[in-house]
Amino acid sequence: MNKRIPVIAANWKMYKTKDEALEFIFAVNGNVPERSQVESIICAPAILLNLLVKREGEHLRIGAQNMHYADEGAFTGENSPAQVKTAGADYILIGHSERRSYFGETDKDVNLKMQAAFKYDLTPILCVGEQLADRESHQTKHVLDAQLEKAFDKIDASKAVKTIIAYEPVWAIGTGKTATPEMANDTIKEVRAKVADLYGSEIAQSVRILYGGSVKPNNIHELLKESDIDGALIGGAALESNNFLVFTDAA
Ligand code: PGA
Repeated sequence: MNKRIPVIAANWKMYKTKDEALEFIFAVNGNVPERSQVESIICAPAILLNLLVKREGEHLRIGAQNMHYADEGAFTGENSPAQVKTAGADYILIGHSERRSYFGETDKDVNLKMQAAFKYDLTPILCVGEQLADRESHQTKHVLDAQLEKAFDKIDASKAVKTIIAYEPVWAIGTGKTATPEMANDTIKEVRAKVADLYGSEIAQSVRILYGGSVKPNNIHELLKESDIDGALIGGAALESNNFLVFTDAA
């Protein structure tokens, strides 16, 4: 089995001013583990990308939280994949549940953004997750399988293997309700099985799959102990630089 390098990705959402972003990056830069050990990523608002990229240092990497899938065009207020790439981002969050629910992003949009990410050499962090009602009605596997199938449509295996998948149960995001480590691991195993279905087991064993949803310094260790959880995508708790270092150290 390939060794999967763990990933710790902060999702800053729509938080932090320029000064707050600078304070954070000065606090963590030079203090994250080597990139060969852990991939440490900050997914920042587009307007802060350039500022952060200039100061990312050797082992920290910067990602964006959204982009349009078109090469360019009359889309006021949007950022193109080339703009995100040339701002220096290496990663792009795609299909976060807040984009799906507040901005009407569909599985089709997610797929087009996946294709655009690879076209512009951005590593997608593809978010999938079920609603509480799905889990309660035992539809989790069905919902995740459908999201994965649609997201990976027309993506060939050589690209799929580079994708980082984040399993984020929607009911756990920003709510303080974390999936238990066992539940998260079992569901991530199902996600991996779906990737195996689509691309074969070798690729499934290489793809990094993260857990996200109310990850905190006091639950990160138990989550990362699980066999199939390759890291975490963290919102609220990763706004604190000290916490971010706890997460990267734990990985
Ligand atoms: P949270 O957010 O850690 O604040 O629950 C996770 C996410 O939205 O990616």
